Amino acid sequence: MNKKTVRDIPVENKKVLVRVDYNVPLKDGKVQDDTRIRLSLPTIRYLLERNASLVLISHLGRPKGEKKEELKLDPVAEKLEELLGKKVTKVDEVVGDRVAGVVNSLSQGEVLLLENVRFEPGEEKNDPGLAKQLSRLGEIYVNDAFGTAHRAHASTEGITGFLPSVAGLLLEKEVDTLQGCLEEPRRPLTVVMGGAKVSDKLGVIKRFLQTADYLLIGGGMANTFLVAQGYSPGSSFYEEDSLEDARELLGLFEQSRARVYLPRDLVAADSVEEGASQREVPVNSLSGEDRAVDVGSSTMEVYEEVIRKSEMIVWNGPLGVFEVPPFHRGTEILARAAVDSRAFLLLGGGDTVSAFENLNLIQGVDYVSTGGGATLEFWEKGDLPGIKALQDMYS
Ligand code: ADP
Ligand code: MG
Repeated sequence: MNKKTVRDIPVENKKVLVRVDYNVPLKDGKVQDDTRIRLSLPTIRYLLERNASLVLISHLGRPKGEKKEELKLDPVAEKLEELLGKKVTKVDEVVGDRVAGVVNSLSQGEVLLLENVRFEPGEEKNDPGLAKQLSRLGEIYVNDAFGTAHRAHASTEGITGFLPSVAGLLLEKEVDTLQGCLEEPRRPLTVVMGGAKVSDKLGVIKRFLQTADYLLIGGGMANTFLVAQGYSPGSSFYEEDSLEDARELLGLFEQSRARVYLPRDLVAADSVEEGASQREVPVNSLSGEDRAVDVGSSTMEVYEEVIRKSEMIVWNGPLGVFEVPPFHRGTEILARAAVDSRAFLLLGGGDTVSAFENLNLIQGVDYVSTGGGATLEFWEKGDLPGIKALQDMYS
């Protein structure tokens, strides 16, 4: 990475503001999945080992600038304290006199967690006033919240105007790994693209056309391309607004480095519900109430063979409606092949990760990116506002 990290500036005995991504699922006032908290530990420990005192900033959910009881960070503080094995003080405000007082009395090696930064209306507006108030709580700013780095908010971007600003170890790892897929992939590199957020992903496909060896397309993404090719979707999900862009990409497929595969057959169900009647059909025979909910078996055979000869696999988006069995079948077969292959396997996308978890295959994955939208945008644009704002390595 061409940005400075915590390793590149003196942090000993400093008061350090760390933007972390503790946007974790809560249930009954408890943290349901602590992955993101665990992933923040290396940076926190690195700083604590150097006697820094830490002021942690995070958002949780979408309170839209208002205080929401159910989105307070107390359960997060509790979980962090447990994982860190060290006291974590939590305050009930983000900024203000009381917070400043607590920060002032913070001793070396102590950890403080501010309240949900999105309780402040200035956060999402990237208000310089809020950024400045936050900046007064520390001497150095560290961004370790890769999953939020695509947002230019006060705590991710604005604040960098007021403090020396560097990357945390998680953010560095994300950037190096995701950039590695684009710039020096192991080959053959296969990119699997599926899911339903078609418009968010077409730019990523465009980028990978220049660098991947194979592109395997499935899910609602494939439906959209098939409609763009002129096939009838029946009642399948596809993204109407993306048809024009999909058509443009179809034109690029011919001249691109990557060999692009679209499904040749599909599972057509008469509803997206468990127990719906289903049959396999070629892509040119959907009509009426048919819903394409998964890729067909002859498509799977082709895709599996590509997966088997890959050295690197980047996967974003399930190949079918994996939440509703048996429409998880295509995703399952290919996921198993990917895990069993010799390839380095990287997942991006919340639903893709859920699919691998549900299939009990997550242990076989080599790297799980913590960014959904951030991961996609990083691949598409090669940079993100929250990263761009950090100090360059050579400056
Ligand atoms: P990710 O979170 O991995 O990036 P997306 O959010 O883009 O993936 O899409 C995941 C969703 O796509 C899932 O809820 C899945 O049911 C849906 N999906 C996949 N294939 C289809 C399909 N053929 N028809 C309708 N929905 C689909
Ligand atoms: Mg998703």
